[in-house]
Amino acid sequence: MRVAAVGAVVTTTLLFIVSQDVNGAAARRGRSRQPPPPSLTVPTGARLLVVAPHPDDETLGVGGLIQRVHATGGIVKVVYLTDGEGYPEGVQVEDHVESPSASDYRGYGRRRRHEALAALHTLGLDAASATFLRFPDGGLCQLMHRYWSEKRAAYRSPYTRLDRPPKSDMIVPDSEYRGEDLTQELARIIGEFQPTIIVVPRKEDQHADHCAAWFFVADALTAVRRVHPELTIDVLNYIVHFNAWPFGDDRPDLDAPPGLRGGASGWLRFPLTPEEIRTKRKALGRYDTQMKVMDWFLKGFGRTNEIFSRPATRTATLPTRGSPCCDQ
Ligand SMILES: [Zn+2]
Repeated sequence: MRVAAVGAVVTTTLLFIVSQDVNGAAARRGRSRQPPPPSLTVPTGARLLVVAPHPDDETLGVGGLIQRVHATGGIVKVVYLTDGEGYPEGVQVEDHVESPSASDYRGYGRRRRHEALAALHTLGLDAASATFLRFPDGGLCQLMHRYWSEKRAAYRSPYTRLDRPPKSDMIVPDSEYRGEDLTQELARIIGEFQPTIIVVPRKEDQHADHCAAWFFVADALTAVRRVHPELTIDVLNYIVHFNAWPFGDDRPDLDAPPGLRGGASGWLRFPLTPEEIRTKRKALGRYDTQMKVMDWFLKGFGRTNEIFSRPATRTATLPTRGSPCCDQ
């Protein structure tokens, strides 16, 4: 069956929303607080592809869902778009240097990749579940626009001074830091893995790499549909960066970010078991480099549920005319 343009239309056989008549009940009781969003449950044997702009995003946003899919006979693959190496403050703390060199940034990325493998191991996955595309941290939004094709030189990272992924990590031979190369690599991975669920950041995520991740996945899905029109993929969004969310409160559960609508599906809660919560927190603790500089940020996601939504539209045309993610 050809994948329809709107995610909610194609998802009925994949994910089942348990919706209660909470709106009506709350209204009858005259409560002012918003009712909780409906819950998301996962079918057994799912094939889950998680797209993480940086090492740690997969655990922050999806660490519980990853465990559930793995525990219910599914297969999980996590694709890291960057190594998260372009973080001067983090490198300064890690290496005790005021002006990090290209080599320092590359070393920082290496550490973060190792941490990602340790976090995935804690979540129950082996190293083969991880794919590191090694694209430039902080540069993805520019690849959507200025550095799209061979019409100009590839983007060069101001941190690592590299303009392409290492040969050993190229999914498509001769890839460089160009948008069309990243789309092709993602399309290759999606076409080969054939996920039943893809989880990727929302385009409203205020980190430019996260926003760009959405555009690249949507563009790759368009390419995949041409070759595999039979694939039915449920596309879910997660969010990590949105104003002060989720730090406006310290309640154990995670509400949706204030001021952000829940896309086509409305917000979907994914409640975690006590064991899943403990394991997720332990996995977050594997990110030693990040805990050193922003443990408050990571711990803010160690709640009793995760929260997802479905995109209103699953298409994006790249390259974009402007820079919708860089300008955020
Ligand atoms: Zn991130």
